[in-house]
Amino acid sequence: MTSSPIEVFFGYAGLSHDSGPDHPESPGRLSCLLPVFESRVKRNKGKFLDIRPEPDLSMYRESHDSAHVDFLESLSFPLNLDGDTRVGPPTILALREIAGALRDLSGVRTGMPRRVFCAVRPPGHHAHFHGGMGFCAVNHLAALAVLRARRNPSERILVLDFDVHHGNGTIDILNRLLTPEQFLFISTHRYPFYPGTGSGRENREGSSGEGILDIPLPAGTDDEDYRIVLDEWILPRWDRFAPATVLVSAGFDAHVADPLGDMALTETTYRRLGEALSFCEGGLTACFLEGGYSLPALAASVDAFLSGWDRD
Ligand SMILES: [Zn+2]
Repeated sequence: MTSSPIEVFFGYAGLSHDSGPDHPESPGRLSCLLPVFESRVKRNKGKFLDIRPEPDLSMYRESHDSAHVDFLESLSFPLNLDGDTRVGPPTILALREIAGALRDLSGVRTGMPRRVFCAVRPPGHHAHFHGGMGFCAVNHLAALAVLRARRNPSERILVLDFDVHHGNGTIDILNRLLTPEQFLFISTHRYPFYPGTGSGRENREGSSGEGILDIPLPAGTDDEDYRIVLDEWILPRWDRFAPATVLVSAGFDAHVADPLGDMALTETTYRRLGEALSFCEGGLTACFLEGGYSLPALAASVDAFLSGWDRD
């Protein structure tokens, strides 16, 4: 088992990204996590990653339509990408900072142990090849997957998405830009629910476990339901695929206290998901914050997740 410390990339510039008045995707979602990370660092349970922002958004050009990146780079005032996704000049500064983390993580050699939690705003997993949607401007996880696959075409990449919403943007980009042998995409999400995808009809399994495993869940799914999904569906498929790199869309909006998700998970499940990551041997494991809209539940869930990952 790897003993590399969990590194935290805290996207300070994301504190200035403005989703609009009374929007659930608020700066408080990042600031409420800072004491969680600081407490862990104080107890020698991790360290902050020092990142230099990129001068532009070119790290995202490998994974998005250039017209979308051109549009974002030319923004001089706030605009809505859809009914609930606003971007403006502070958003671009936040994305340049995240792009710095992507540059660092894309260069990690295959097999080198690194464990990184990226606390970022705006989230990313709904952003698809052609544009943003659902609070997301660009897709950070998919960008990293594409950069790593280009760097080492034989690297096997697991993407695990446990946000309550289906990672429609991520699978759109993986399907377009990676070969079927390069990835396994596992998503647990409420269904039917926003964004309407992830029914399980697109599931496929290749000879080494690669493919898609969408696991649609009913409203009200609780810890015991999720334990069965984790033990009987997720972990066996994960073992079979034997990934070199694990990328996680870490959304905490399936928590029972979340105002959007209408699910019944607690910190118990997030701790178990962290424990599952603790078994990754070597290689890069990188998590990106996605949803989670009850601030106390988000902070407690991220703390439980990190504790499980570090087996405290
Ligand atoms: Zn979500």
